[in-house]
Amino acid sequence: MSHIEPDVRFPFPAATVPTRCRRRPELFDLAFGDLGGDTKKAAQERLEQARQACSACPVVTACLRWALVNKPLTREGVFAGTTPGQRNVLRRRLADRIGPEWIEVLAARDQARREGAETARHTPLSVPQARVVRLDRELNGPLNLPPPLTAEEQRLNRNRLDAGLKAA
Ligand code: SF4
Repeated sequence: MSHIEPDVRFPFPAATVPTRCRRRPELFDLAFGDLGGDTKKAAQERLEQARQACSACPVVTACLRWALVNKPLTREGVFAGTTPGQRNVLRRRLADRIGPEWIEVLAARDQARREGAETARHTPLSVPQARVVRLDRELNGPLNLPPPLTAEEQRLNRNRLDAGLKAA
C-alpha cells in the first residue's frame, strides 16, 4: 500500500496540550462516509461530541486548513468539527472563490507572510510604529524580556564584535 505524505507547506498545528482527537480518537473516527458503521443515532452522538471537542480546541482554524489541503489524508474522520462531506463542500467553495489552484495560492500567501515577518524583524520601526509600541507598553506594561547580560557576557560579545569588525 502506498504511503501518502502530508503537504509540507502546511504543517499540522502544534498544540501546547494534547488535543481531544489524540486523547479520544474513537470519537473522531467516522469511517466510511459521514456516519460509519454505527446506528445513525449513535454516529450522530459521536459526531456531536467530536464537534464540541473541536470547538474548544486551540488549533481548530489551522487544523481545518490542514485537513482541507490534505484531502488524500482526510477522506475519513472528523477534523476541526467537519465531516468528509462538509470538507468537500468547503473545498468547492474555496475553488469557486480563489480558483482551481487554491492550494497553491494559499501556500504562496503563507510564504509571502513568512517572508514579510522575517523582513520586519530586521527593519527598524518607523516613527508611527514606535509610537504604537510605546503606547502599547504604557497600557499593557513592559514585555517579558530576558534578564540583562552579565558583565562577562557583555565583554565576550564586545570581543566577538571587535574580532568581526577587524576581519571584515
Ligand atoms: S480541531 Fe483538529 S486538532 Fe483540535 S481536536 Fe479537533 S480534530 Fe483534533
